[in-house]
Amino acid sequence: MAYQVFFHTLGCKVNSYETAAISKLLAQEGFVETNDPKEADVYVINTCAVTGEADRKSRQMIHRARRTAPKAIVVAMGCHTQMNREEAGADILVGTDDRPALVPMLLEKLKLREDGYVSSDYDAGTRFYEYGSVLLRENTRAVIKIEDGCNNFCTYCIIPYSRGRVRSRSREAILQEITDLTKKGYREFVITGIHLCSFEKELGGGHTALGELLAEIAAIPDVARIRLGSLEPSCMTDELIRMLKDNPKICPHFHLSLQSGSDTVLKRMNRKYDTALFCQVVQNLREAFPMASMTTDMICGFPDETEEEHRESCAFAEEIGFTHIHVFPFSPREGTRAWDMDGQIDGNTKNRRTAELRAISDRMEGRRPQDFLGKKVEVLVEEVLEDGSCEGYCREYLRVNAHGKTLVREGDILNVKIVGQDGYTLLGEILE
Ligand code: SF4
Repeated sequence: MAYQVFFHTLGCKVNSYETAAISKLLAQEGFVETNDPKEADVYVINTCAVTGEADRKSRQMIHRARRTAPKAIVVAMGCHTQMNREEAGADILVGTDDRPALVPMLLEKLKLREDGYVSSDYDAGTRFYEYGSVLLRENTRAVIKIEDGCNNFCTYCIIPYSRGRVRSRSREAILQEITDLTKKGYREFVITGIHLCSFEKELGGGHTALGELLAEIAAIPDVARIRLGSLEPSCMTDELIRMLKDNPKICPHFHLSLQSGSDTVLKRMNRKYDTALFCQVVQNLREAFPMASMTTDMICGFPDETEEEHRESCAFAEEIGFTHIHVFPFSPREGTRAWDMDGQIDGNTKNRRTAELRAISDRMEGRRPQDFLGKKVEVLVEEVLEDGSCEGYCREYLRVNAHGKTLVREGDILNVKIVGQDGYTLLGEILE
């Protein structure tokens, strides 16, 4: 009988991708994925360390796994375990630089193999580990990882320590994976990495390397849409924006990581841009893509953040007019420079500032659908509902509910005229 494996993934898209990759490697060894943790022979938690809260949840999940599936082999992998090698509670621990060793460790533990296995082509943390074709689905979208690691050392971030320096996946492997997925019917691809714009940086490539890769992806005939993961403002050069504009398959939705709208805070965070540069990048993107959605991440209550800096941050966010802001209260990470900075902000103040910025985000998100009233959008259908309508996302990444006489199926791409809104959702009529 096949061994059953249950996965619980915390954190970012890269983590989800890596869970899918490990799932694929285990499937090749005959393991079967289960949705019921109690049935699991192997319980894998892919941990996250991006904030102190993520660390806490990772620890909690490891202990919960032990209680939920007492007979299972509990595996903890990912960023949190990379930084907490002594973590108790898991039978097998792998970090970010030795994940692929999980499969042989597990096989050994399960006594499926007599011989120990040491991967010969694995080079810890210095080159991209190639998993081959991994299918991480986000409904009708497939997520493609092209890069790992970061060289930036923002003062609050553990990633450069936990994942190591930039290393890029080969173009050949990326294009092969996407071609394979188009044959399975995927039309939209979300290009992701820890620091996307650093693609091929270790090979001496500039920011245009990403633009070149995206052009090669766009040349694959059945690719309909390319969506980009989080982008660093300082990398968004005129040349890269021109390359994006010239690529008709790029979705006009840009997640530009801001973190703070105060220049003095950005400096303390060791971010590589100021608000003037950020504004310029947004303006350039909007010139190239007039209907573009801008989303971002922001941190409230970074050490020494004054009330005035917080106000500046809020005002700047409103000035940009984001479609959505992921707002996080600052959570110090041991091992980073911000961990023992003076001027740590108390929890109540951080929470209040977070709530204020979230309210601004909610207001902007509520207004955004009005920009589309009367306009035509393209919708990739994710779901056909019982009432005959369908739902999916437009290229600008707003959810659309559409009605029409035409019979539609999941995966269809439709032209829809927007006639109203229901909360953050656009309401539309399918054009024949
Ligand atoms: S750019 Fe900064 S926040 Fe992003 S992964 Fe690198 S160090 Fe972390």
